[in-house]
Amino acid sequence: MLTLKTKIEKLPLIGPAYVKKLHKMGIETAGDLLFYFPFRYDDFSDVKKISEVELGEVVSVRGKIIDIQNIRTWKRKMNITEALIEDESGAIKAVWFNQPFLVRNLKNGAHVSLSGKIVYLREGLQLSNPSYEFLGSGQSLHTARLVPIYHETEGLSSKWLRAHIKPIIKLADEIEEFLPAKIIKNQNLFGLSKAIRQIHFPDNEQKAEIAKKRLAFDELFLVQLYMMLQKKKWQKNNAVKIKFNKKLEKEIKNFVDNLPFKLTNAQKISSWNIIKDFEKDRPMNRLLEGDVGSGKTLVALISSLAVIKSGYQVAFMAPTEILTRQHFAEAEKRFSLDCIKNGAHSSECNKFQTKQSKPSYRLKPEFQLSNNLRDIKIALLTGSESKIYESEEIKEISKKKLLEKIKSGEVNFIIGTHSLIQEKIIFKNLAFSIIDEQHRFGIDQRAKIQTEVLEIKDGLKTVPHLLSMTATPIPRTLALTVYGDLDLSVLDEMPKERRKIITKLVAPANRASAYKFIYDQIRKGRQVFVICPLIEESDILEVKSVTEEYEKLSKKIYPSLKISLLHGKMKPKEKEEVMKKFSSGETNILVSTSVVEVGIDIPNASVMLIEGSDRFGLAQLHQFRGRVGRGKYQSFCFLFTDSTASRTHQRLRALIKSDNGFELAEQDLKIRGPGELVGIRQSGLPDLAMASLTDFELIKKVRYEADKIIMENDDLKKYPKLANKLKKFTKKVHFE
Ligand code: ADP
Ligand code: MG
Repeated sequence: MLTLKTKIEKLPLIGPAYVKKLHKMGIETAGDLLFYFPFRYDDFSDVKKISEVELGEVVSVRGKIIDIQNIRTWKRKMNITEALIEDESGAIKAVWFNQPFLVRNLKNGAHVSLSGKIVYLREGLQLSNPSYEFLGSGQSLHTARLVPIYHETEGLSSKWLRAHIKPIIKLADEIEEFLPAKIIKNQNLFGLSKAIRQIHFPDNEQKAEIAKKRLAFDELFLVQLYMMLQKKKWQKNNAVKIKFNKKLEKEIKNFVDNLPFKLTNAQKISSWNIIKDFEKDRPMNRLLEGDVGSGKTLVALISSLAVIKSGYQVAFMAPTEILTRQHFAEAEKRFSLDCIKNGAHSSECNKFQTKQSKPSYRLKPEFQLSNNLRDIKIALLTGSESKIYESEEIKEISKKKLLEKIKSGEVNFIIGTHSLIQEKIIFKNLAFSIIDEQHRFGIDQRAKIQTEVLEIKDGLKTVPHLLSMTATPIPRTLALTVYGDLDLSVLDEMPKERRKIITKLVAPANRASAYKFIYDQIRKGRQVFVICPLIEESDILEVKSVTEEYEKLSKKIYPSLKISLLHGKMKPKEKEEVMKKFSSGETNILVSTSVVEVGIDIPNASVMLIEGSDRFGLAQLHQFRGRVGRGKYQSFCFLFTDSTASRTHQRLRALIKSDNGFELAEQDLKIRGPGELVGIRQSGLPDLAMASLTDFELIKKVRYEADKIIMENDDLKKYPKLANKLKKFTKKVHFE
């Protein structure tokens, strides 16, 4: 018997090749197939008599084929299939291009239904490339109705999907409702079975819309529930409580006062958010969002200071060796005062120790603070390096020694790559973990550093407070859904004295003068990034294009300059090597695909040239632009485009006007939809949820209902069907 659980290979007329394709799409059972939704419809519901069709309209007609033949046009090497269709009112010609096999299927005398657009050709009105099906086989499926169009991944056509979903659509009635009845009632939703039937084969547009709303509600609701439950679960952990007492306040004030610049307001607020979170005995889980150059690292350092000065360790993880080196250098620079053993600062610090108020838990004796623990000792640990900074010196040290120092607690600020979770590090008392460019880490990797357990007192275990940082500007409204399990701080403000980057749209005719300009910049000692167009369809084409650009620049345009190449197909080591050379000033120009590191700080780079800029989203272009203008030099961003469309130019001009990543992301959202936003695309959200991220009304309702459910009971025991659905859902959706 056919049920929702029936494997697709057992369904009628699905051969092994198709089974394989469906499996690739994660579709294993009849039920899964029903949950593969169309994303739009062709409206073929307008059924007319042949004599009544009009030019330009999309219609359906029904009639008999009275003539059909293939014609080959020799000049254009095209095959045209022409059929004459007749009903009681008249006849019309239907024309298909390059589908000669149709004549094997559509024969003289067959009764068919055809849907398509009416065009005018020499001989009069014609149906152009219509969809067709035979009459008499029950309800229409491909014509004369709202016809569902599916994403045609893995080469499965919409027609194929329709034809195979139709025979099992009756199974929709067996789908179990998992939403509590009161939500369905409150929100005026279709029942699930009805929604599934209507999303595939809607009676009319309105019902299709309501069905879609129900299913989008489901996806968003499950995402939201998942996030909220994660948050609850996380907050059941204990964490080290770090009291923000007078002494600590003084330490931090001292540090901030000694900076060569003023903190932005946003930096102050975010640091304060974090320090306040530390005062709780529940672990923080906060996302710090901020444009490139908004100064996230400094917020991380300030909050680390609070933790270190209270006697605990901090781990700071970044995705590449270069970034960790950069952070190490910045930490060393900013903390150096503190690291000088005999400075005034240090004696201040000793006084602070003796009188220090006790941490909120009594520590086991081995965790009691010894004097030197209060000093900051910074370490760097990556796959290829292990170093520490002490007594005003950076010293190479063996990995083994470093691990010992981490274990003993002598080193208390540990910066590193994935090594921090790969090496078997034993921390003495890790209380705070920071993840930079968090989207570059997998969910497992993040979980690992999150669950580093510290036992502070007879069986009382804590996990570290967690700060994730990202430069992808996701508008707050979206962040609430996508990162609903995190608290959010936003650096929506740039340091004051930062110079505006001069951004220009460059037409193909001005290419030569741009090249000349770049040459002059390099002669002045500056460096230049060249970003090649995004080619989403194919990595190989992208590599080819960037390699060609590299060849062109290094052989033809700038034979005397040092140019290097960077793309995603290179090994991590090679990439690091290229970046290192550029970073040290050894190379003049870096030609790269969009893989170029987001967080990298190369103050000497003053020009960002972007080829095919129209292919990128505004937020991403803005991120590229943020690679320059980090030093004292006036910097430039050149947007090259061959496109002459005024819409494209208008879109790109937004970059000239705005230098705020969040604003630009909002515009992307309006123009290109949420799926195009970096950081959202990788979020693993299912399609409908993704498409509905800008439906703020719906999101509000979803949050309201999810909140209510969680308030009632946060283990979902009262709603076993919902709990079960959520479990399946999260298994299928890989949240990142
Ligand atoms: P991002 O947010 O992209 O990680 P960084 O933390 O790398 O930015 O900061 C970029 C640069 O700006 C660093 O050199 C940092 O020292 C500097 N910086 C940070 N905060 C300020 C500020 N308030 N005023 C001036 N410069 C700042
Ligand atoms: Mg950064």
